[in-house]
Amino acid sequence: MALASALLHSSMTTAEKFAQHVLPTYGRFPLVPVRGVGCRLWDADGKSYLDFCMGIAVCSLGHCHPRLVEAIRAQANELIHVSNLYQIPLQAELAEEINVHHVRIPGKVFFSNSGAEAIDGLIKSARRFGRKRPQADGAQRYEVISFLQSFHGRTLGAMSATGQTKIQEGFDPLLPGFRYLPFNDIGALENAVRPETTAILLEPIQGEGGVNPATPEFLRAVADLCKKHDLLLLIDEVQAGFGRCGDAMAWRMIAPEIKPDGISWAKGMGGGVPIGSFWLSDRPVDPDGTALSSLMGPGSHGSTYGGNPLVCAASLAVLKEIREKDLAMNAILMEVRIRETIKSWKLPIITEIRGNGLLLGVALDPTLIATPEGKTPALVVVAQLMENGLIVPPAGPDTFRLLPPLNVTEAEIDEALAIIRLTLEELAPTHPTL
Ligand code: PLP
Repeated sequence: MALASALLHSSMTTAEKFAQHVLPTYGRFPLVPVRGVGCRLWDADGKSYLDFCMGIAVCSLGHCHPRLVEAIRAQANELIHVSNLYQIPLQAELAEEINVHHVRIPGKVFFSNSGAEAIDGLIKSARRFGRKRPQADGAQRYEVISFLQSFHGRTLGAMSATGQTKIQEGFDPLLPGFRYLPFNDIGALENAVRPETTAILLEPIQGEGGVNPATPEFLRAVADLCKKHDLLLLIDEVQAGFGRCGDAMAWRMIAPEIKPDGISWAKGMGGGVPIGSFWLSDRPVDPDGTALSSLMGPGSHGSTYGGNPLVCAASLAVLKEIREKDLAMNAILMEVRIRETIKSWKLPIITEIRGNGLLLGVALDPTLIATPEGKTPALVVVAQLMENGLIVPPAGPDTFRLLPPLNVTEAEIDEALAIIRLTLEELAPTHPTL
């Protein structure tokens, strides 16, 4: 019996094993990826693809970059994991790299394993701050304002901060203390702050919500409101941070003068190893000079794996490569190439390109795409692009994202653009507008 079962299982396809053994939380494409080098990915049948999804903005240096592989290999030989009860040299070095070279504002870092955990850390910090600086009657402030179409993750805290009902459906009761305002609507900020409000959380560019950049005016208005009402300004850079949008920090591409109180990262900072982090400013929060960062003191937060030697070695390799090779500048140059090429096609099916650097959303005219029941136009296009050899993720119903690695070459961009043009002409044959 055991032998029969073992034989049956060894003959099952990957998709069959998923169906049998893995919780079906994802609607997965049939692709079975097995190997990657740079921009290139191969499936189990040996078919090669150009990968402009990169684990959804995770593999900033492409697949299996030699500097990252070597850092992981060397560290794995030396020391993989020790507890945060001890002084981990690489964690201190990584925090220094982030503070000195990327944030460039005095502050302190906590290392988590994912973006959602980093957001949870920011939410906890906001509640600590709301206790330190309470309402006029002494009651704690606790409410975090975030925005519609935002995405902050899937833990209870991060999901409650996310302004999309489809993410929250079926998981009531949510964590209390969140309210969502329309994004990029300066008018809606007026009268939005209540006595219990303690922080505003936003993505400089909403990624999952369809690639919607904050306007400079909006970001400045949010920062001003935070100053006026003594609120924390919390920036979620999980998808947009560390060079992807043309600067180490995406908010600096939009309104460089603003100074966040808290920041979250994950995705691109590890190039593929599970690492996230949140940062709190050292700015004083009372007349005695108590630093905001000191509110998360010993015992306030923790993570067994967070910032272990292996992931820190990997993240240091990634962040140093991004900085030393100025890959943020490459992201800007490649953005220009993509925008100019797509504009020159004059294809009516493409209505807009949104985003900054290499976090770009190509918006489609849904009326020009035959969309079967249960599919969105973006999914139809993404599936056909995959068929034609290019992997990209959707972003909302009518938009697909371009998230190549930050070191992508002109030749790779041109190859991807050629596939996109061919695919869109296949799906919506038309003559260019004049
Ligand atoms: N914040 C933003 C802006 C994100 O895009 C994501 C994931 O897509 C998250 C938070 C959650 O990150 P993770 O999936 O690593 O928990």
